[in-house]
Parts: sequence; C-alpha cells; structure tokens
Amino acid sequence: MSDRAGVLHVKGRVLVGPDDVRDELWVVDGRISYDRPAGARDVRTVEGWALPGLVDAHCHVGLGAHGPVDDGTAEKQALTDRDLGTLLIRDAGSPSDTRWVDDREDLPKIIRAGRHIARTRRYIRGYAHEIEPEDLVAYVTQEAGRGDGWVKLVGDWIDRDLGDLTPTWPRDAVEAAIAEAHRLGARVTAHCFSEDSLQDLVESGIDCIEHATGLTEDLIPLFASRGVAIVPTLVNIATFPKLADGGESKFPRWSAHMRRLHERRYDTVRSAYDAGIPVFVGTDAGGTLPHGLVAAEVAELVTAGIPAVEALAATTWSARKWLGRPGLEEGAAADLVVYDSDPRADVRVLAAPRRIVLNGKIVG
Ligand SMILES: [Zn+2]
Repeated sequence: MSDRAGVLHVKGRVLVGPDDVRDELWVVDGRISYDRPAGARDVRTVEGWALPGLVDAHCHVGLGAHGPVDDGTAEKQALTDRDLGTLLIRDAGSPSDTRWVDDREDLPKIIRAGRHIARTRRYIRGYAHEIEPEDLVAYVTQEAGRGDGWVKLVGDWIDRDLGDLTPTWPRDAVEAAIAEAHRLGARVTAHCFSEDSLQDLVESGIDCIEHATGLTEDLIPLFASRGVAIVPTLVNIATFPKLADGGESKFPRWSAHMRRLHERRYDTVRSAYDAGIPVFVGTDAGGTLPHGLVAAEVAELVTAGIPAVEALAATTWSARKWLGRPGLEEGAAADLVVYDSDPRADVRVLAAPRRIVLNGKIVG
C-alpha cells in the first residue's frame, strides 16, 4: 500500500463550478480527489469556501517600471500575486526570461506571451521589441517560440506628431502576423486603448484585446460574433485621469481622449458583457501597477455591472477553461484558495484568503 502521509482534507463548500458545490475534497500526492483515500493518516484539514486558484489574465512577471527586473524581484512579484490567491498568470508580455519559475512548485503557474512587440518608439521605453511592420511576422514567430501559446502586440499608442492615440500597425502587417501565429498554434492579443485599432485587428482574426477601452457600440457585434475576448484591466484604466493630467500641456487631444475612454469604462465593459463577449480578469500588475490586485479587479467588474458570480467566473472557472487549464477536477493539481465566506455572495472576500494551496501544499 502506498504511503498516504500528508493528506489534505478540504471541507466546507467546494465551488467546483458556479452551480456545482460539493462538501469536501482530498489532496493526495498534490492532486485533487473526491474519494477519501484509503489508509489516510496525518490528515490536515482546511475548512471554508474553496475556489480554484485565481487567474490573473493580464499580469507581468519580470517587468518593472523601467523594463526587466532581476530574478529576486520577479520572485517577489510572483509571491505577492500568490499570497492574494492568484495561482495562474497569463503573462501579457515580459522582457525577462522567467522560465525558471516553472521549476518552482511554490510559485504561480505562468502562461507566457513572450515579450511585447511594439512599433518603434510607440510604447513605454524598455518594455517591448520596437520594430517596423516589415519585421512583424519574424518577431511574432520568435516570440511564439518563447511563449506558452500567446503572442502580445501593442496595437495602438500615442503618436507624438499627431498628439493622439493611433493604430501602430497597417492592416496587411497584422493580417500576416496573426495568420503566422495561428499557423504556429499561438493565440494573439493586443494592447488597445483607442477605437481605431480594433476593427483591423479583429477582422484579421485576433483572439483577445487587452484594455479594450475603445470598444464602442458599433464594434461590439463584431467582437461578439467572432468570440474575441477582452481583458479590461479596470484597475489600470483608473489611472487614466492622472496620465491625462500629466500629458495635458503637451498633448491636449490625447489627454481629452484618455479622459473620455475613462469616463465610459464601466459602460464599455457592461455593454461587452451584455453582448456575450467573453470578459476576463486582468490586473496589469508589473510595470507601473503593483502586484496582488486581483480582488480589486474582480470588484471593479462588479462595479461595472457584471453579476458577482460571473465576475468570479472571469477569474476562476471560465478563465481556466479559456486558457486550457483545469479547475477543481478529479486528478488535477490541487491549486485552490479557501475563504471564510461565500465569494458568490460578496466578491470582497477575495481580498482576504484564509488558506492558499498550490500543488497540494499549503503555501499561505
Ligand atoms: Zn500590460
């Protein structure tokens, strides 16, 4: 008989799905089981409301305010996310090689998108490969090889000559780039603040749009019919007025534009959700925002008008399905977070997890 020492028993309410609630699960050899293991001893019990490990679908590990950071700083970023319940990260672009994290059972799992690909001088300095359209396919090929099934483009940014946000890539360049990524089995997402960059990207077959503040009523049916997901990053959009103030004197048109996008942000997200566009939780941690904001982003989605259980799904059940990772299924790695009360009743409980279990071990 195999040794069953160190079995973990999670009991209370296990939220396997939004409507699939069970009384208990067991963790044996790091994996979830719904059958009490025979011969279990040294059983440790955790009680409360259990969710699958939260997903932050827009997070940057290994990125700081001025570009790449050292491994120690990247480790702290990942631990901060973990300690607030984020156990699966879609890294939306990092200039650092964080592949070493994969060997650490105590750190969140990361799905990488390689390094951001931006047009020359059209993004935050030190973050992206800054290139011209004729090189886009080659860079997409390269970053698809570095990532875990995603590639990240910067789809629009301020054009300092025009003084406003404008698309960064011509249509034929993104068409070729997205086709190549798909041929390689990678999905593509793009940073987009403005309205003008969206149509070309979506008609070219893009899979997801980050921020998507420029999503207007006329574009919503296009997104919905093609199933293009959005990751609104509302905790980041909240900083737009401050950015607008900073750029006011030099770029008044851009500032006014950023303010308009900010003012209608909740309506944008609510309209997208109402139209059936998949909406996922992303904090945009790293770079300018701190890590550990997942609970705040879920609360923002609720403020925008998304029902609490759907906002939860956007960081748990449906987010994991979208990224091709298991939740609390039999046999899956035991990555789960336990709370004092029902997060479906009030998502604010996400800010204070009682216990965090990663790869079957209590880590927080
Ligand atoms: Zn980002």
